[in-house]
Amino acid sequence: MTNNSCVRSWVEVSSDSLRRNVLTIREKVGESCSIIPMVKADAYGLGVESTLPILEACNPWGFGVATVEEGCHLRRIGVVKPVVVFSPIPYGLYEQALEANLTVTLSDLEALETLIATSNKLNITGYFQIEVDSGMGRAGFDWRTVSDWGKIVRVRSDQEDVSWSGTYTHFHSSDVDFDSSAKLQSERFLEAIENLNENAGMCHLCNSAAIFREPSMVAQGVRPGIFIYGGQVGSKGPLAEEVISLRARVVLVRNVPSNTTLGYGATYESTRQERWAVLGIGYGDGLPRRLGNRGHALLQGTRVPIIGRISMDTIVVNVTDLVGVEVGDVATLIGKDSEECITLDEMATLVETVSYEILTGLTSRLPRILV
Ligand SMILES: *Cc1c(COP(=O)(O)O)cnc(C)c1O
Repeated sequence: MTNNSCVRSWVEVSSDSLRRNVLTIREKVGESCSIIPMVKADAYGLGVESTLPILEACNPWGFGVATVEEGCHLRRIGVVKPVVVFSPIPYGLYEQALEANLTVTLSDLEALETLIATSNKLNITGYFQIEVDSGMGRAGFDWRTVSDWGKIVRVRSDQEDVSWSGTYTHFHSSDVDFDSSAKLQSERFLEAIENLNENAGMCHLCNSAAIFREPSMVAQGVRPGIFIYGGQVGSKGPLAEEVISLRARVVLVRNVPSNTTLGYGATYESTRQERWAVLGIGYGDGLPRRLGNRGHALLQGTRVPIIGRISMDTIVVNVTDLVGVEVGDVATLIGKDSEECITLDEMATLVETVSYEILTGLTSRLPRILV
C-alpha cells in the first residue's frame, strides 16, 4: 500500500494481476489467434499509458479504441501496431484517422466512399474493417443484406487505395444468455462471411465473456476488454484477478453525540455517541453516489459502513467500533485490506451497474499508481 501521505485518494493498478489476466486470455485462445486488447476509454479508466507495456505480454496483434482521439494518443505514445477504431466516427475525422494510420470500422457504403475519397485526397492507404450487425443493432452492415453490400465493398476496395483488414461482429448478451443469443449471432455472422469469401480479412467475434464460453467462436481474433482489467465475465469463465484498488485517506476524525445529523439531506443521524471518519473521496472522483447509506469501506481490515449521502469531495464512515483510527489512515473502497476485500463487481452490483461503468467513471482527479 502506498505511503505517500500527500495523496488524498488514488487508484492502484496491479501490474502483476493485469499481466496474469492477459496471459490467461492468451492461454485460452492459443498462439495462432490474434488478440486485440480493447484499450478504449483510457484502458477502461486504468490509464492506457502505463497499462500498454503490460498488455504486450500477450503479444497482441494490435489495439482497439473507440475514438480517433484515443487512436492518435496511442500513436503519440509510440504504438506502431494496428490501432482499430471500433465505433463509427464523424466523416470530418477520417483525415485525422488516416494521417495517424488508424484502421476505421465501417457500417455502410457511404462511410466506405468517404474513406476512399479521403484516402485519394491525402494519398494515404485507408485501412478498414467491416462490422457486421448480427443483432447488436447500433452499428454494422446488416447480416441479412450481405448480398447487397458484400460485393460492392470488395469491388470498391480492389479499385481504390484502401485495404480491408478484417470483419467482425459483436455479441449483445455474451455474459448472460450466451447459448441462445450468441450462437444465433455467430451463425448469422458466419453466413455473412461465407458470402464475402476470402476477401474479408481477419474474422473476429469474441469479447471477454465469449472467449471463455465458446472456444469454437474464437476464430482468427478476439477483442478482450473487461476481463483484462479485473471485471468478472459470468459463471463460465475463470475468475479475473482483481486489478484495481481504490483507496482514500482519512482526512478528519470526529466524535459526535447522539442525534447529530450528517450530510446533504441529513439522511443519517447518530443514535448514540459515535466516531466518524471523513474520507477524501466523493462522487467527484467517480465514487458512485448510490453508495450513500449503503456501501462500505475497509479500515484496519474491517468493513465499516458509509453513512449519509456521498458528497462531491468527501464521504463519511462510521468507525465507532474501531480503535485508533487517525487522520492519514488509508481506507479501501475497492480492493483488499488484510483479509477483507471489496471486489469491483461487488460494488457494481450494489449500485446496480456494471464493472465497466465503475472503472470508466473514475475521474482524472484520482492519480493512477502502478504497483
Ligand atoms: C468494448 C468492446 C469489446 C470488449 O468487450 P469486453 O466485454 O470488455 O471484453 C469488444 N468488442 C468491441 C467492438 C467493443 O466495443
